Amino acid sequence: MIHENCGVVGIFSMDGINVIPFVIDCLRALQHRGQEAWGVAVPHRIPLKRIGLVSSSASEFASITRKFESHAAIGHVRYSTTGKSTLNNAQPIKVKELCIAHNGTIANVDQLTSMVGGCSFTPQSMTDTLVAAQHLAGHLAKKKDITEALTILKQEMIGSFCFTFLTGDGSVYAARDPKGFRPLVVGLHKPSNTYIVSSESCALSAVGAYLLRDVEPGEILQIDDSGLRSEYFARENPHAHCAFEYTYFAHPTSVMEGVNVYAARKRIGEFLAKEFRIPDADLVIPVPDSARPAALGYALEAGLPFEEGLMKNRYSKKGSMRSFIEPYHETRVEINKGIIPLADVIRGKNIVVVDDSIVRGTSSASIIKLLREYGANKISMIVTYPPIRYPCYAGIDFPSQDELLAYQQMKDDSVGTADIAHKVARSLGADFVAYNDTSTLARAIGIPETELCFTCTTGDYSALGVKPLFKSRAVLKGRS
Ligand code: SF4
Repeated sequence: MIHENCGVVGIFSMDGINVIPFVIDCLRALQHRGQEAWGVAVPHRIPLKRIGLVSSSASEFASITRKFESHAAIGHVRYSTTGKSTLNNAQPIKVKELCIAHNGTIANVDQLTSMVGGCSFTPQSMTDTLVAAQHLAGHLAKKKDITEALTILKQEMIGSFCFTFLTGDGSVYAARDPKGFRPLVVGLHKPSNTYIVSSESCALSAVGAYLLRDVEPGEILQIDDSGLRSEYFARENPHAHCAFEYTYFAHPTSVMEGVNVYAARKRIGEFLAKEFRIPDADLVIPVPDSARPAALGYALEAGLPFEEGLMKNRYSKKGSMRSFIEPYHETRVEINKGIIPLADVIRGKNIVVVDDSIVRGTSSASIIKLLREYGANKISMIVTYPPIRYPCYAGIDFPSQDELLAYQQMKDDSVGTADIAHKVARSLGADFVAYNDTSTLARAIGIPETELCFTCTTGDYSALGVKPLFKSRAVLKGRS
């Protein structure tokens, strides 16, 4: 079984312009949410799908824009939590006349699959999006109303989702799960009277559209020739917005739940400087790129110089890519090879390195090794996200508990963060490691702790409604 994550868009132009250039530019702006594949769907056509970055298909943009000309479209960039990276698994997908793009994870997809009657393919060849799409198409055929169909689907489904749909009559829909795990916003490009729904507001900025608001948890938007309409298919409180989006996943320019991600990250650094002051530190450097605002915040608060001690080689084949969201270990290692240290900044210095998170520890270990090789004296690592010890079943790719470094180092649930940090420091070769905690992180983000999801650090799966059976990475990635 295959699960999906990613970035989604849904675009409808009231003035009838061809929105394909908008789709392409929005997907490029969402590339940090998925690097494995991308796709576009317009009414009455088989969706276009391509492997790799959107920009790798640049030579085709003109022909795609002509061939798929439409005033209504949805699009997708893919990052898999599970399942192989193949064109078959790319989105949007089409079931009958319904096209769907999905960001999230459906945790009970095996159970849902057994409810799909008379399907002509094997479960192993299906994505969780395809299973959901089949269910939705079935409910839609019976109810003739997408909000009602989604209400039924929500009752069947466990997990997180932001969907964009495109129906055969050219209407665009967007729906967000009632917990609001993953972000979804709606904006307007005023000159062309075009509504754009997107995983993040950075995509709106990329095409000169402005942010209208978040799509609310449990809300479904319909956009057609009559304009934009809103309904609720479910309401659940409290919400469970993913805290990891604010430290790592989302683009710094994005605004989610009224919070600018860059400002939140800078505040996180300031708060951590108050809690973890390193007395003999000479300077602060970020692990590029997500931790840069937090490192700046830390340096400003601590009164220390902020320096770039590690530079990404953006001209290497994988230099501009993000290592964490790569599905395969070999590719993550290759991306980390594209980090070049600034020897003159590092040599002989006591360094505070600010990182956004430690998941598998792959990049943290190689960065500390590099800093040592280039003559760093003392290395203190400040981590903006608390220890990640439990798998995420709501849309982020750390599904196997065994591969989480903080869990490997300390399997006992009752152990405190300082003990975990001490063990992690030894395993990474750092002199000192300090992790953020959930309450400081929530205060720095500016959203009440009760409205954020911290399952991957607390192991409390109540926001999801069930505790999933933890599976090995081999099973999840279809390698067994
Ligand atoms: S478990 Fe962690 S990564 Fe997953 S949605 Fe919750 S906070 Fe985000």
